Amino acid sequence: MQRTIRVTVWNEFIQERTEEAVAKVYPRGIHEAIAEYLRQQPGLVVRTATLDQPEHGLAEDVLRETDVLIWWGHVAHDKVSDAVVERVYRRVLEGMGLIVLHSGHYSKIFRRLMGTSCSLKWREAGERERVWVVAPWHPIAEGLPEYFEIEHEEMYGEYFDIPPPDELVFISWFEGGEVFRSGCCFYRGRGRVFYFRPGHETHPTFYNPHVRRVILNAVKWAAPVGGPAPRYGNVKPLEPIRGAR
Ligand code: ZN
Repeated sequence: MQRTIRVTVWNEFIQERTEEAVAKVYPRGIHEAIAEYLRQQPGLVVRTATLDQPEHGLAEDVLRETDVLIWWGHVAHDKVSDAVVERVYRRVLEGMGLIVLHSGHYSKIFRRLMGTSCSLKWREAGERERVWVVAPWHPIAEGLPEYFEIEHEEMYGEYFDIPPPDELVFISWFEGGEVFRSGCCFYRGRGRVFYFRPGHETHPTFYNPHVRRVILNAVKWAAPVGGPAPRYGNVKPLEPIRGAR
């Protein structure tokens, strides 16, 4: 029997409440657009959390009961408390999966986990994005075509200042000519981190069936596998060591 995966979808939830163009696309917030799809999937238990809640909705007990955390942030990265970032960081090293979406590339937690600036090029022209699968063998590519297109998106371009990903699943091409490593897997401690590029707040990207499928696949890939808990430090030998002095 498959184990239930407990998912928390975190969103700063600001522009949906302050900018009409964003509210029109995501009237209940980006977190709800993602959560409403995930809730329909068997084997997932889904909750949401937002910046304005106490401890940003990410109290110790919430994170302890989270197998995979999804993160969308943009204009308020600096409003996220360092204590919460530290807590999420620790949980990732312990094995919690983390999926960072779009402008989350500049979030404190992603930069902390990468150790680099995570800077990139960008342009808001609502241009076409073609997302190519470059690892068809990868669980995150399950059920996808060779490529899929998003009619209108913000452009992100290389160079993207991240460490070389442990696995690269997608590369995006943009109508204006740039390319971007748009689906990147990283192993950190016992945790798995997936960065996925699409998801600008003024475009209906999180209703796109391919984008939704990628997020679902990533949740399954990033969920902890329940391996042995490591022990560290000085240890006694399992057998007597012959010839020990
Ligand atoms: Zn954006």
